[in-house]
Amino acid sequence: MNTVATAARKKTKIDPISRVEKRRLAEADTRERVTLSFYRYVRIADPEAFRERLVDKWSQLDCMGRIYVASEGINAQMNVPKENWDKFDAWVKSQPELRGVPYKIAVEEGEGPSFIKLAVKVRDKIVADGLDDSSFDVTNVGEYLTAAEMNDYVDDPDAVVVDMRNNYESEVGHFESAITPDVETFRDELKVTPETLRIHKNKKIALYCTGGIRCEKASAWLKHNGFENVKHLKGGIIDYARQVKQEGLENKFKGKNFVFDERLGERVGSEIISTCHLCRKEKSDTHYHCENQICHRLFLGCPGCIEKRGSYCSRACNLISLVPQKHKKTVARLYNEHIRKRRPFKKVRMS
Ligand SMILES: [Zn+2]
Ligand SMILES: [Zn+2]
Repeated sequence: MNTVATAARKKTKIDPISRVEKRRLAEADTRERVTLSFYRYVRIADPEAFRERLVDKWSQLDCMGRIYVASEGINAQMNVPKENWDKFDAWVKSQPELRGVPYKIAVEEGEGPSFIKLAVKVRDKIVADGLDDSSFDVTNVGEYLTAAEMNDYVDDPDAVVVDMRNNYESEVGHFESAITPDVETFRDELKVTPETLRIHKNKKIALYCTGGIRCEKASAWLKHNGFENVKHLKGGIIDYARQVKQEGLENKFKGKNFVFDERLGERVGSEIISTCHLCRKEKSDTHYHCENQICHRLFLGCPGCIEKRGSYCSRACNLISLVPQKHKKTVARLYNEHIRKRRPFKKVRMS
């Protein structure tokens, strides 16, 4: 995840094929799809070559998604046409780096496609955590918790449950009684958590995130910072939801699980725990990306506000959208220089 400052410095690119067009193309493919995510910390000798292999095979199978590859491993969020699932699964099993990797399958598909293109990117790390991995033992991770064990932690006064995600994720859903740090990035989360938890040092600590990947690093980091009793939810909220359904457990996760794809959320608990960012009155946990492509900010909108104002995060954005195409570049520059800097920028990316 980039810091707010870096995000502000980034130039807004105007894609040759617009998002709207990409979405239209993706929607034209009406095949049923399976949305899944997986990650693995594994030594990848040549990330570029590995990337090529993934792109070759997965574009043949019409997969879409966002996949990060680094010499430390792979982090994938993607979908696969149901009819190609067996081929996809067999191929994954045939790859030494991926063999046996546990999939987390989405509990619900959205109305539209979960991804609108296939993007495989080589990065320094599969999750941007801002840590120097050589300064602590990254393999000293916490033990895993099952969904049933997590429920015990939620009820246990001698335990603390910590949400390792960003504020815009925990805003729409979190475990009952969880600590939800007010941070915009995982880097910041790792900076504040040891201090936040200091007073709970002797308690049992349970960490959770979307699919489990962030907790692998966070649990090792907390142990390095002197916390003895750190465990984390295996497979994250995605797999918690599956286990709850499958095993008929009580659901202690309230609201929605924010996900990093076009769906932006999977309902886990039936209640809505957040409020519309536009009117600040009505309950809403439906995220929108600001329709002004220069802004593209993430916000929560209630049906009334969206109907009245369109999917714009502000009046300024609504006005910008009316500017003729030939002036858009100038407006984008002015927007980045004057408006974005002053307003927190929520970046919907895990790394
Ligand atoms: Zn509203
Ligand atoms: Zn906007």
